[in-house]
Amino acid sequence: MSASIVIHWFRQDLRLSDNPALSAACDAGEVIPLYVLNDKEYGARELGGATKNWLHYSLKALNESLNEQLLIMRGDPAVIINSLIQETGAAGVFWNRCYEPWRVEHDAQLKSDLEENGVTAKSFNGSLLWEPWQVGKPDGSPYKVFTPFYRKGCLQAQEPRKPLPVPGQLRIHPLNTEGALSIDELNLLEERPWSAQVSSHWEHGEKAAQNRLYAFFEDGLSDYKDGRNFPALTHTSRLSPHLHFGEISPNQIWRALGSHEETRDIDHFRSELGWREFSYSLLFNNPTLPKSNLNEKFDNFPWLSDDQRLFAWQKGQTGIPIVDAGMRELWQTGYMHNRLRMIVGSFLVKNLLLDWRLGEEWFWDCLVDADLANNSASWQWIAGCGADAAPYFRIFNPILQGEKFDAHGDYTRRFLPELKDLPDKYLFKPWEAPKDILQSACVTLGENYPLPIVDLKKSRDEALRAFEEMK
Ligand code: FAD
Repeated sequence: MSASIVIHWFRQDLRLSDNPALSAACDAGEVIPLYVLNDKEYGARELGGATKNWLHYSLKALNESLNEQLLIMRGDPAVIINSLIQETGAAGVFWNRCYEPWRVEHDAQLKSDLEENGVTAKSFNGSLLWEPWQVGKPDGSPYKVFTPFYRKGCLQAQEPRKPLPVPGQLRIHPLNTEGALSIDELNLLEERPWSAQVSSHWEHGEKAAQNRLYAFFEDGLSDYKDGRNFPALTHTSRLSPHLHFGEISPNQIWRALGSHEETRDIDHFRSELGWREFSYSLLFNNPTLPKSNLNEKFDNFPWLSDDQRLFAWQKGQTGIPIVDAGMRELWQTGYMHNRLRMIVGSFLVKNLLLDWRLGEEWFWDCLVDADLANNSASWQWIAGCGADAAPYFRIFNPILQGEKFDAHGDYTRRFLPELKDLPDKYLFKPWEAPKDILQSACVTLGENYPLPIVDLKKSRDEALRAFEEMK
């Protein structure tokens, strides 16, 4: 390409290192680093509140690493890119691929329009280890079961490429474009009760992501396979928001693991990255995944419509301590440990009999790692209607889950201070505690902590009956 000005369009790749599109743009000429906030970019659904919160800080970090020269615009990316081309004579546009159905469609159209107008348009893989079309069964169809997808598909395919360094020659094309905004002008930090509280739990940006990875290697990776089930421990990486926003690439993580001796913990951690790949493959091959049951039999499931139940679940006021602890962790920190995501998800669909899509929407709004592929695939998995899903009749017992995975109650007490003085024996079922024990722990059920909103056994039986009827 002879031209010297090109656009790099940042999306879910908010980093400089191992950014294949950015590296190619730098090789091609002077770069206009562009970020476009398209409020409706997730289709009809708005960006979640916690997503906006994270995005604000992530853009700040990226802008800083670009010497405050990130060009920020708001609107339809295709319109903005075309007008920038008119203004600057840019001869190329570079981006890393995204896999949300509307983005796949939008990008294909943009690419063909640009090429028709003689502008080079190049897209790259910047956020997956293997793109959905690289992993398929021998007959070309997509895998529907995780283990063969990962073991036969991914691990037998080409090894993920080596991460790229930060481009050595990043020449930024100076620009004073009309319509350029500051990050603050995007108004991403909404007036939400939790906004400041959520961000105080995180460090954002590429450097923070790298620090998180190496801190996890030090403190969490050894014993990951077992330890990842215990929410009070630090055996999970908490890399998910960094991965979602592309502050770190899965390649960087995968290859960094290679510098350690292979252990069962490393194998298991790699396979969790494999689940992320599986979710993306499911979404790519089933664009209606966020809205429609993969297993159509569930279209007839008699979900209840009960706002009171939903509200109690959202606010962590169900009277089932381990569920409430998980929901409050989400509300306070923008994150929830995976074990808790499974427990609260199972409780919503199998004890409260509420549609998994209600849970998916709440998570979408509250999670800093809200990710269309992972969130919708995981909710379908927990509801029993997804690919390779937990069967509907396997219902988590929240009392046993608490007793097993938070035996000393460290996690539950952290988020339910009103129960902190209850002995372990009753922490997960305070309604069974004798009066004097409740009294000495200053717990008055129905006053400072709710009575259970459903009977666990009865609601479980109702769910199983509904499931039988659906079949
Ligand atoms: P680690 O255990 O350290 O795992 C490392 C990485 O592997 C994660 O960052 C993540 O990218 C990937 N990963 C781990 N477990 C899974 C999984 N089960 N499925 C897919 N990828 C996985 N994850 C999201 O990133 N965004 C979501 O919106 C999301 N919604 C979920 C909703 C429900 C109901 C459930 C049950 C799970 C959901 N997950 C989601 C998957 C999982 O809970 C999180 O990825 C994980 O808890 C993130 O914490 P971590 O980074 O410490 O994970």
